Amino acid sequence: MTQREIFLKHIAQTSDAPLGFEISHAENCYLYDLSGKKHIDLIGGISVCNIGHGNKQVLEAIHKQSLLYLHVMVYGETIQTPQVQYAKALTQYLPPNLQSVYFTNSGSEATEGAMKLAKRVTGRSKIFAFNNSYHGSTQGALSIMGSEYWKQAYRPLLPEVYHFDYHENAILDAIDEQTACVIMEPVQAEAGVMVPDIKWMQAIRNKCYETGTLLIFDEIQTAFGRTGSLFRCQEIGIEPDILLLGKALGGGLPLGAFISSKEMMDTLMFDPVLGHITTFGGHPLSCAAGHAAFTFLLDENLFEHVHEKEKLFKKLLTHQAIQKVNSCGLLMAIHFDSYEMNKKVIDTCLQNGLFTDWFLFASNALRIAPPLIITHQEIELACQIILQSIDAVLQDAKNT
Ligand code: PMP
Repeated sequence: MTQREIFLKHIAQTSDAPLGFEISHAENCYLYDLSGKKHIDLIGGISVCNIGHGNKQVLEAIHKQSLLYLHVMVYGETIQTPQVQYAKALTQYLPPNLQSVYFTNSGSEATEGAMKLAKRVTGRSKIFAFNNSYHGSTQGALSIMGSEYWKQAYRPLLPEVYHFDYHENAILDAIDEQTACVIMEPVQAEAGVMVPDIKWMQAIRNKCYETGTLLIFDEIQTAFGRTGSLFRCQEIGIEPDILLLGKALGGGLPLGAFISSKEMMDTLMFDPVLGHITTFGGHPLSCAAGHAAFTFLLDENLFEHVHEKEKLFKKLLTHQAIQKVNSCGLLMAIHFDSYEMNKKVIDTCLQNGLFTDWFLFASNALRIAPPLIITHQEIELACQIILQSIDAVLQDAKNT
C-alpha cells in the first residue's frame, strides 16, 4: 500500500477531499513535498507557525527539556519550570486582571475551561456567542459555534446558549444579570476575516461591566503578532475578563490556555476541589517550545512589520476575479464569487507551489496567514502565484 492509501484507510477521515499533500519537511516559510519541491506555506498551520518552521531556538528548547523530563504528573501538582517561566513571561504583557494562566492541550479545551469558569464565578448559566464564530469542536465549544450546519447532527448540545450577529445591537439589551458570559473573537477568523467595529465591542464591554457578565476574548487565532500586535485586545484597548490562547502559543507543539484574574481562577480550587483537570495540559515540552517561540517573536519584533506586509499583499492582490480582500494584519481572506472558483484557485496554487486553503464559514475565501517572518520577496512570489492561478482557472473555464 502507498502511504496515501494507508492514510486514507487508517487515519480517520473527516473530509471527502483532504488536501492530501505529503510533507517531507518544513523550514522557515516553506513546506517540502516528497519530490523535494518547495511550496510557500501561506497559512502557517492555520495561524500556528507565526515564527516559521524549524526555528533553531525552539528546537533547542525542546531538546533541552526532553533531556530533563517529559510528563511527570497531572496538571497543577508539581512545580514545572517550563510552565512557571512561560506563565511569568506571558503575564508580563497582560493587564493586572489577567495574571493567572491555566494551560490546556488545545484551543477547544481552553474554551471549555473558560465556559466552566464563567459559570462558576457568576453562578449563572446563560452564554452569549456569535453567528459565524468558531471556538472549537468539543461538545461545549461546539454548542457555542455560530453555525447550525456543523451542530445539527450532534444535538442535544449545551442549553441556554444564545447567538447574535456581529454589530447587532440586540445583544446590548439582552445581556443582563442572568448572563454568565459573552464569548467573542476580536476578529472573526473563520467568517473570512471579519473585523468588528471597536465602538460596538466597547459597548458590549461596558454592558458586561454593568451586569457582572464576564467577557471572554478568543484570541486563539489573533494573538502573537498575527494582527500586528502581541494581543488584539491590547491594540483595540478592550480588556476581557478571560483570555483564550492556543495555536501559536505552543510554538508548534500543542498548547492552549485560559487566563483570568487569580481571584476568579481560585474558584476552581474548592466545591469541588479540582474544578478543572487535565493530564497533559501545559506539557513541559509544549511550554518550553512556546516560551522559546514567544521570546523569539519579541526579540525579533516580528509583529512590527506585520502591517507593512499586509499592505504589500493588498497592493499586489488586485484582479477582476477578486471581490475583496479582508484583512487584519497577516490574517487575510481573498473573497471570490463562489466556492467553486475558490476551490479551483486553491488547487491550482497547490500545483504551482503555494499551500493554502479556505475558511469554515467562508468557503468562497482563500486563506492568507503565513509565518510572520515571510519576506517582501516571498510575498511578491506568493501573490504572483495566486494571480497566475486565478488567470489559469479563468482560462480553463473559457476553454471548456
Ligand atoms: N478558537 C478559534 C478562534 C480557533 O481558530 C480554533 C481553531 N481553529 C479554536 C478555537 C480551537 O482550537 P483547537 O483546534 O486547538 O482545539
